[in-house]
Amino acid sequence: MNQAKTVFENHLSFAKGLDQKDSLKKYRELFHFPKDSKGNHLIYLCGNSLGLQPKSAKSYIDQELDDWARLGVEGHFHAKHPWMPYHEILTQKMAGVVNAKPVEVVVMNSLTVNLHLMMVSFYRPTMLKNKIVIEQNAFPSDQYAVKSQIHFHGYSLENSLLEISPEPNENWIRTENILKIIEEQGDSIALLLLGGVNYYTGQAFQMKLITEAAHKKNILVGFDLAHAAGNIELRLHDWNVDFAVWCSYKYLNSGPGGIAGCFVHEHFAMDGEMPRFAGWWGHRKETRFSMPSSFSPINGAEGWQLSNPPILTMASLKASLDIFDEAGMENLCNKSRLLTGFMEFLLDDLQNSSIEIITPKDPEQRGAQLSIRVKNSNKELFTGLIKKGVICDWREPDVIRAAPVPLYNSFEDVFLFVDALKKAGV
Ligand SMILES: *Cc1c(COP(=O)(O)O)cnc(C)c1O
Repeated sequence: MNQAKTVFENHLSFAKGLDQKDSLKKYRELFHFPKDSKGNHLIYLCGNSLGLQPKSAKSYIDQELDDWARLGVEGHFHAKHPWMPYHEILTQKMAGVVNAKPVEVVVMNSLTVNLHLMMVSFYRPTMLKNKIVIEQNAFPSDQYAVKSQIHFHGYSLENSLLEISPEPNENWIRTENILKIIEEQGDSIALLLLGGVNYYTGQAFQMKLITEAAHKKNILVGFDLAHAAGNIELRLHDWNVDFAVWCSYKYLNSGPGGIAGCFVHEHFAMDGEMPRFAGWWGHRKETRFSMPSSFSPINGAEGWQLSNPPILTMASLKASLDIFDEAGMENLCNKSRLLTGFMEFLLDDLQNSSIEIITPKDPEQRGAQLSIRVKNSNKELFTGLIKKGVICDWREPDVIRAAPVPLYNSFEDVFLFVDALKKAGV
């Protein structure tokens, strides 16, 4: 399917026709959909917030519960999937999702924890170079993390925090403005930290271009990929990104509070001298259990691990990554462009001046999410949608975020969502 060749039509049978032609349609059957009291599937467009449960997750978790019951501590070595190296069996597939070398990727901790650990290594402010650039409307946790790091190093937000925002009356940040800040203030900037996809507007940043420009000014570059991993095509290694962090419970369907991902570019990952906060799980495997008192890190992103990781949440992540691996990120991204394009077409076709899509129109600058501003609306609209069987997401003051996820959403879902919006009196 190719969006350039697809002329959309605004009726249900057209949506159903696209579903029939969809080569990924079988994956929908692999997920549990929330249902209403009568047992009907709800229209779930909230995979950017919490991905649906793969039906296989239960058996993956049961396997580990059974092995724990059967083997106790011996499960570390004799479980079907031994727990000692369990995280390693996730690495290859997780690296495939973000296009990195396996040695650059590890699953560990949760997202904000990883963000702090990475800033410990990559934010090393000096008198002359101590600023961090972030989006003004970055996710609050990222703002708190960044601001606390600046304070921790004894600098002030007035001098060391540089927030970028859209131009007045515009919805997303112009790439040229990011490049301009790098050009003009680069000498005093230590770190650039952006969301790969902004959680509010759905804008996907031009990561390759931005990373190149920042490196010319000796600025280190990190991305928070919470809304990008499993959503858009990433090439972390090739783009020379210095580090990245992401959670796995949004597009990657690992379940609430699931274990997070972390990328450290090979340049740094193989450098045992990189400053870091250390824990025993990051220590070289050959001598970890002889419990030496001095720390010697594993080569690669694994050298940033602190603790032995939670097997049960890794099991549900494994269930989902196995599906991603089979479906293929490229195929998913192709369907995603079409699915989101269809939603955009239907919204435009409402020809309703109180609706404004605040996500970029360029398919290269967005993923699966459209953020829809409904002027003069309030949360009642959102409550009305829930009553019509739609689960999406409401952000104050007037924005609905809807994410048609290519792995399990259908063109019919998209049609029914826009229809529900119309019937909710927009
Ligand atoms: C979802 C999200 C988070 C959540 O952080 P946790 O540490 O997983 O609770 C943080 N930052 C961004 C950009 C997010 O989208």
